[in-house]
Amino acid sequence: MAEQRVWHAHYPNDIPTTIAYDEKPLDSFLAETAEDFPGKKALHFMGKEMTFAQVYTEARKLAAYFQSQGLEKGDRVAIMLPNCPQAVISYYGALLAGGVVVQTNPLYKERELEYQLNDSGATFIICLDVLLPRVTNVRGNTTLKHTIVTGIKDYLPFPKNRVYPFIQKREYNMVVKVESSKDTHVWQTILEEGHEQYSPVDVDPKDDLALLQYTGGTTGNPKGVMLTHYNLVANVQMCRNWLYNAKRGEETVMGVLPFFHVYGMTTVMNMSIMYGFKMILMPKFDAEDVLKTIQKQKPTMFPGAPTIYVGLLNHPKLKKYDLSSINACISGSAPLPAEVQEQFEKVTNGRLVEGYGLTESSPVTHANFISGSYVNGSIGVPWPDTDTKVMLETGEEARVGEVGEITVSGPQIMKGYWNNQDETEQVLKDGWLRTGDMGYMDENGYFYIADRKKDIIIAGGYNIYPREVEEILYEHEAIQEAVVAGIPDPYRGETVKAYVVLKSGHKIGEKELNAYCRNNLAAFKVPRIYEFRDELPKTAVGKILRRQLVDEEKKADKET
Ligand code: AMP
Repeated sequence: MAEQRVWHAHYPNDIPTTIAYDEKPLDSFLAETAEDFPGKKALHFMGKEMTFAQVYTEARKLAAYFQSQGLEKGDRVAIMLPNCPQAVISYYGALLAGGVVVQTNPLYKERELEYQLNDSGATFIICLDVLLPRVTNVRGNTTLKHTIVTGIKDYLPFPKNRVYPFIQKREYNMVVKVESSKDTHVWQTILEEGHEQYSPVDVDPKDDLALLQYTGGTTGNPKGVMLTHYNLVANVQMCRNWLYNAKRGEETVMGVLPFFHVYGMTTVMNMSIMYGFKMILMPKFDAEDVLKTIQKQKPTMFPGAPTIYVGLLNHPKLKKYDLSSINACISGSAPLPAEVQEQFEKVTNGRLVEGYGLTESSPVTHANFISGSYVNGSIGVPWPDTDTKVMLETGEEARVGEVGEITVSGPQIMKGYWNNQDETEQVLKDGWLRTGDMGYMDENGYFYIADRKKDIIIAGGYNIYPREVEEILYEHEAIQEAVVAGIPDPYRGETVKAYVVLKSGHKIGEKELNAYCRNNLAAFKVPRIYEFRDELPKTAVGKILRRQLVDEEKKADKET
């Protein structure tokens, strides 16, 4: 019977399985927190601290400025920033003004940036000064009307000895002097000369979008996931429920996960703003820097991904640092090895548990409990009001232990893909989201991910969509056929490998091909391994068998 196989949460007695979610705009929580804790520190950024009142004041000034430049309800505002105070202020400023945030990865190359700006129809962008040349180069081909430029130096003296992964070497050494003009606006001037009187906008939290979050698609181009205010608020309230003994205004959250990805945005930024937690902003992952900061700032919560915890555990000076302030860690985005989980708990005295989710679900849908028994290898149980079905290929619902596609419904599930009805219909039916991940449930109600149905490669915590890399390879004149796959990698989880067939009479070496890919793709998407073949395995209708290649690699890996 279908009803019996829709699985609800099995929770310890004292944790609610259903919540009355606030039907309020996400940004209204900043106003509440600033009123409740005006002088409390909202964020820490490399030695600089800001209170909730200061964050709220700057967000309002920015909102007023957006509106003075013609921003209207529903207009898209792109944010191209690493974790820094401006990332938080821009996000909430855009929402207060009635805008829809479009998060842009600072690693994006011009081609990727141009696509995303045009697809979202963003009219405003806020970017770091060193990223401005990339924005300027594409601006004329996009819908952009206004660029707001800010620098790390707007809050801090520029740290000389740090190299950020999102800045290329030549950009890093640039001295950027940005002049205000009709369509270029300088952050500091906006804050120094601006006022806080923005016009509040009427928002329907269940219908109005707060965010367009880009994620990969079958056509090779990323799709904009439409998340409403309600989706995002509900997911944070679910997180709060899970942290049942966290205290409003008293926790400190480690912000290593980038806010331009929905995982860090929800579990660090929105969580902290909604509950008055202090967030520690780390613009890049540097293991020693993170260890030092933990010892000094004493975070109590630390959401992360397996590679982050592995990176810390393998640091030679790990033992030198005191990490005992950490109580609660959730690991998501890729499978968490049992050994990593156990070792990290030993060095922190806290709990590290695995959770699961995806951009389309704001993102969290499942997690292990932070108290009580932990089930190794499991993604845990569904979150409050989040129902799960496991669908077989036949369209029937799986029984306990049977593998099928994990399908979820709940208040955190997206409205659909932006301007993409076809893709929306493929994954979203009657409120149920097909995750594309294959998994099963055990007899105790715990879920497990068996494999990914879709072909995303997750290398070092980054999602890479093979099709996108393949399209670049196909554009090269020497290449006849190419397929890209994620192959097992002991440190990065997976690594990107390209299998290439050259056109007859053409020659190109690995080095040259690599240089070509580096010019056209963000570094994290560039294949680490190339294999030149005479032909690629295919199905009868000519579809290249990517999985067969991965299976060959896995087999070869086991034999060595
Ligand atoms: P994203 O949309 O970038 O958040 O990526 C979501 C994808 O990450 C999911 O569809 C899964 O394939 C993968 N993922 C997330 N959490 C886990 C986990 N705990 N174990 C295995 N895969 C995961």
